[in-house]
Amino acid sequence: MPKQVNADNAVKRIREELVAGGTLSLGTLADTLALDDFTEVYRLADQVNEEVNHGVVRIRAILEFSNVCRRQCRYCGLNCENKKLERYQMGEDEMVQTTLAAYRAGYQTIVLQSGEDPYYDKEMIGRVIREIKARCGISITLSLGERTKEEYAYWKECGADRYLLKHETSDPEIYAALHPCGTLENRIQCLRWIKELGYETGSGFMIGLPGQTCDTIAGDILLLRELSCDMAGIGPFIAHPDTALKDQPNGSTELTKRAVALSRILMPHLHLPATTALGVLSQGEKSDVFSCGADVVMRKVTPGAYRRLYEIYPSGLGLDDDIVKGRMELEDAIRQLGKQPL
Ligand code: SAM
Repeated sequence: MPKQVNADNAVKRIREELVAGGTLSLGTLADTLALDDFTEVYRLADQVNEEVNHGVVRIRAILEFSNVCRRQCRYCGLNCENKKLERYQMGEDEMVQTTLAAYRAGYQTIVLQSGEDPYYDKEMIGRVIREIKARCGISITLSLGERTKEEYAYWKECGADRYLLKHETSDPEIYAALHPCGTLENRIQCLRWIKELGYETGSGFMIGLPGQTCDTIAGDILLLRELSCDMAGIGPFIAHPDTALKDQPNGSTELTKRAVALSRILMPHLHLPATTALGVLSQGEKSDVFSCGADVVMRKVTPGAYRRLYEIYPSGLGLDDDIVKGRMELEDAIRQLGKQPL
């Protein structure tokens, strides 16, 4: 993959294209992703991040309230064909109480995430949103998959602030091979509705999917821009042993960080989480996952009984369910990197 292109020249080319047209071409993005030495590009991403975010790292709580899923995504441990997985669904009150506990522990955002689970209908999610908003000032991000425009509109009216729906890959052929259950077209349509309805909109994609090249990743980055995304989760694919992709190698952490860095340079104000998957594969690595331009980190607040069951991929991370302790540990780790937790 690495290419013999001089790093200084690559940064020069990036700057020139940004000054001339305010964007980067697919060719420049793909060539830069394949550089031999990415140091100068990381430096530029870090500089842009510092100018925009001033060393602040935003911490979001994530509550995984159901692992039931109607979809068959080939890479995901929650897909409905995985009969080995014990399924759970949290009740409305338990969702509200866990969110309140996260708020008391200092979190200003809760991400309510689940598999694509039709049991949680429009009214049920609406009640949860209204109850949380009546009881505390936490921002609510929803991540429930593809739903109807009417549902998205209703939840926005109820008080939801953001919606997270990764496009997963911008290549229609790769998308079709991995999703017998849906189309890229519909996923992108959902993202357009979400944006149009006034949500802060999050998309994202995986690194390391079969058939993906640097051109595909460059296309993924450009799609984030085309959709005017406010945030983007870019993470490595991690093989799950009970899925069709069990023998596929994990995605590269280096390539993931490069994609994050280029997204930061192209879209300076985009919120970019250092994804959990990146954290899983980077365990033991000395490098700082925020030095590639990330400004957000998510922490699970899912009650302990359910945590090991929300197994999108094997992680071994975050099984300790003390919400207050988890928040404090993360704040300390961020401060140790010379950043400021928010
Ligand atoms: N159902 C919702 C949706 O489809 O957006 C949210 C839950 S879904 C499990 C959350 C994300 O997990 C997906 O967007 C996908 O990018 C990621 N994911 C699933 N399987 C993965 C794997 N094996 N490795 C890395 N990320 C994975």
